[in-house]
Amino acid sequence: MELETIYEALGLSRPVYAYGEAVLRGLRERFDAVDRTAEYNQAKVLAAMQANRVNATHFAATTGYGYDDAGRDNLERVYASVFHTEAALVRPQITCGTHALAVALSANLLPGDELLSPVGAPYDTLEEVIGIRESRCSLKEYGVSYAQADLKPDGSFDYDAIREKIGPRTRLITIQRSKGYATRPTFSVARIGELIAFCKGVKPDVKVMVDNCYGEFVEPVEPSDLGADMVVGSLIKNPGGGLAPIGGYICGTRACVERCAYRLSAPGLGQEVGANLGLMPAFYQGLFLAPTVVAGALKGAVFAANVYERLGFPCVPGGAEERHDIIQAVTLGSREAMAAFCRGIQAAAPVDSYVTPEPWAMPGYDSEVIMAAGAFVQGSSIELSADGPIRPPYAVYFQGGLTWQHAKLGILMSLQKLVEAGIVPLRSLERAAAEEEER
Ligand SMILES: *Cc1c(COP(=O)(O)O)cnc(C)c1O
Repeated sequence: MELETIYEALGLSRPVYAYGEAVLRGLRERFDAVDRTAEYNQAKVLAAMQANRVNATHFAATTGYGYDDAGRDNLERVYASVFHTEAALVRPQITCGTHALAVALSANLLPGDELLSPVGAPYDTLEEVIGIRESRCSLKEYGVSYAQADLKPDGSFDYDAIREKIGPRTRLITIQRSKGYATRPTFSVARIGELIAFCKGVKPDVKVMVDNCYGEFVEPVEPSDLGADMVVGSLIKNPGGGLAPIGGYICGTRACVERCAYRLSAPGLGQEVGANLGLMPAFYQGLFLAPTVVAGALKGAVFAANVYERLGFPCVPGGAEERHDIIQAVTLGSREAMAAFCRGIQAAAPVDSYVTPEPWAMPGYDSEVIMAAGAFVQGSSIELSADGPIRPPYAVYFQGGLTWQHAKLGILMSLQKLVEAGIVPLRSLERAAAEEEER
């Protein structure tokens, strides 16, 4: 059994493989720490499933109205147990992360209220939900205003500005945990906890929602452990474990979650309707796998940063930095390098591996975008994927990998394509590998 041989058959050359192994030898402690967090979170998920007596009847499909859907109702209790909240709304009728966030916001804000983001601009797709970009059916159209306090240049919270912006109309505060496609750092749960405490100190009855996308199970605690009234995310990212084919979740106080259920279905109906359509096995099993899937993706992100940083490509977060989400930004410096990187990720995929990613003018973006994804679930970004806008500084955002082994191969293949394109010379790989051996 020779790894080099099978990798060679997949298109990975020996020098790239050897460089990867040299980098890996320095990452054992980091990977051990990732595994310890996964072990803790696995126990947390197991405890939640056991406390709620999960059994085979919970995997049965329901149709139509879905009244008395025991599997759905119990899954929501399991999520509430995992996130330590009073209630949860978790179902396939929540179509994606943006939908879950839009439901949480519009259910808990009324005309005349103000929404505040104390951490700068929110994720792209929320701009239209809020009405920052003019949009039909936005919160703005319904008379909900929006205020924002930007981060300080060093990425810290501007507490003076935040205090000033919390006013009599401020009903809800939204905090995005992950940097998304911005350049600011991702916040640790501890930092989010400090911010929540500060906001509630200024205005005790204000509600706080955390956009938890890409952050679930990265740490042993979640923002709901530190005072968030709602945590919200997508099931085709971390908590779906790669198995959920659709869905979103909102975990939080009973009062907030009940309003979300009425907004999602209809006033008077709430959580009582919503058939599970046979998706319960995927939702339960995906949640069960999520802590280890997230660990694989995290190892991939740490590996990618260390592989590319040593070759002179700036990485956010840096190779030695602590992680609070599964996204890795690598600045490649040119359109050609971005295309080569994405070709490598695509070539390593289990699905659509023969496809060549090309830059295209995606609606809603002001520059061309390139994406690599060979996923079982369309758009799933817990599966190995990379994308980025084709503009300076020419950074790709890399995330996911259902297994560490696949993430590793994807990263090495991306480097292989950069070598083949003449962007990374072989001798710089050899030099970096030799330096690594000396450490
Ligand atoms: C992915 C993401 C969203 C939106 O989720 P979709 O499922 O793509 O709609 C919102 N916020 C953040 C921070 C995200 O990463």
